[in-house]
Amino acid sequence: MSNVDLLGRRKFITGLGIAGAAAATPFAMPALASSVSAEGVKWDKTIDIAIIGSGFAGLAAGIEAKRQGAKDVTIFEKMPVFGGNSAINGGLFAAPGTPMQQEKGVTDSVETMVADQMKSGRGIADEGLLRHVAEHAMEALQMTLDAGSVYHPYLQQLGGHSVPRTYQTTVSCGAGITQPLLKQCRKEGVETENRVKFAGFVLDKTGKVEGVKLIKGYYFGEEDSGKPYYVRTNRGVIMATGGFAQNVNLRMAQDPTLTAEVGCTNAKGATGEGMFEMFRLGAVPVHMAHIQSGPWASPDEGGFGYVSNYSIFNFPHSIAINRMTGQRFMNEIADRKTRADAELNCRDGNGDPLPPIMITSWEHAKQHPNAKKVLKYGVGWKFDTLEELAKHFDVPVKALKQQIEEYNGYVKAGVDKQFGKNMGKAKGKYIEAPYGVVRLWPKVHYCQGGVQITKKAEVLDSFSGAPIQGLYAAGEVTGGVHGISRLGSCSIPECMVMGMTAARSIMGA
Ligand SMILES: Cc1cc2nc3c(=O)[nH]c(=O)nc-3n(C[C@H](O)[C@H](O)[C@H](O)COP(=O)(O)OP(=O)(O)OC[C@H]3O[C@@H](n4cnc5c(N)ncnc54)[C@H](O)[C@@H]3O)c2cc1C
Repeated sequence: MSNVDLLGRRKFITGLGIAGAAAATPFAMPALASSVSAEGVKWDKTIDIAIIGSGFAGLAAGIEAKRQGAKDVTIFEKMPVFGGNSAINGGLFAAPGTPMQQEKGVTDSVETMVADQMKSGRGIADEGLLRHVAEHAMEALQMTLDAGSVYHPYLQQLGGHSVPRTYQTTVSCGAGITQPLLKQCRKEGVETENRVKFAGFVLDKTGKVEGVKLIKGYYFGEEDSGKPYYVRTNRGVIMATGGFAQNVNLRMAQDPTLTAEVGCTNAKGATGEGMFEMFRLGAVPVHMAHIQSGPWASPDEGGFGYVSNYSIFNFPHSIAINRMTGQRFMNEIADRKTRADAELNCRDGNGDPLPPIMITSWEHAKQHPNAKKVLKYGVGWKFDTLEELAKHFDVPVKALKQQIEEYNGYVKAGVDKQFGKNMGKAKGKYIEAPYGVVRLWPKVHYCQGGVQITKKAEVLDSFSGAPIQGLYAAGEVTGGVHGISRLGSCSIPECMVMGMTAARSIMGA
């Protein structure tokens, strides 16, 4: 079933007299979320804490809630598998002041990381939340290590970060974190239920969230599947339902250029109905139009694919070339928005998209675990000479040669006079034959918008400005943390820290 169908099946708030807040706009009513009054509700179960969503935010919240003494904690997940976007992500985790930074002599601090993020967020990120996350990022990293996550023995310096501060799981995937966290949840006594969909809040007479309406036995895409199931919560509900990048109508309402034809890296379940139900309850929408595209994606494969991680790793010692001119057109490690915008400007003579290419010396490219796969699956190419490369991609060879010579001069000098790229990670890595090449084109990747929260992960009410009682939110479902553009590898720490924070707040810790 398409997202368009999902949005078509809208329901209205019943029983509370607060219906109709956004009834005229079809994108405002995704998939069966509708809150009800607790009056007359027959509860199927009472637990301490209900966590909706099983990504980084939900899993970290589950573990921390048990560690803070919660008795019955259940994570409810609508999909057949646990983990959401977190499980398919790149496993890249940024934190300041880590043991690996100390080992490698990298000077970093909470303030430096926050400053990098504020710059990328174009000044409108939430500095207080970013600082809170950076201060606790090491704790979150430690939670993953204690649960059994394993990281590469090197740090990466991703676009927009002023120093190398990014760990990556050895499986180069978020599952290297979600699987250990899920196991840890169960070990600590957190219940986990899949194919259970959040379908609305149950509110007491004062408007406090008293529990949730769920659909048990739900099959994604079959909106009539499953049966209602009412869970009462003694302490509260933590919404960790992730972003809405797969909800085409909703993302197009923010940015009409993000049509169904634009590639998307997200898991299918990222449809945003949990977020919308919080809006209908009164939560404040923040930065909804800031939807990030990933500049490292390839038009030659679906989703995140093999190229994304390969190019993230290789950008610092590669050049990105506009095929019309044979010239570089951006700082290859600028923040994501800067690069995505620059790539979208690469057009042919008719103004049609002409995906630029990233060229890397194969000697360095092959260090990445995906290097062989990009060749094997035909989403990357290897050339022995520049002439072959230029012919294949129809690039003016003379200009390309000159550009490479010029760039290699920057490698030698350690200064990029063209785009001001930080050449630290390019040291000694000249662009030489044989060459590895991939094509680049941005894909819809991350939603900076969502519900406004406090540093305690409370959800604020748009009318009163006070926290909505019984309700907490963490992770990509929240908005405003990163401003206009999130830096790579900063979502894992944010989701985990805010999940842990929600659990601590709910437990009064
Ligand atoms: C391909 C890819 C690569 C990425 N790589 C990185 C990276 O390397 N580093 C980094 O920092 N960030 C990365 N990101 C971003 C990061 O992974 C996400 O922002 C993060 O996983 C969001 O975590 P979350 O817990 O908020 O939500 P999710 O992990 O999306 O989990 C939300 C869960 O809630 C479930 N859900 C939704 N609605 C309902 C409902 N109504 N009822 C019940 N359950 C529901 C969903 O099915 C999902 O399982 C990447 C993102 C993608 C898509």
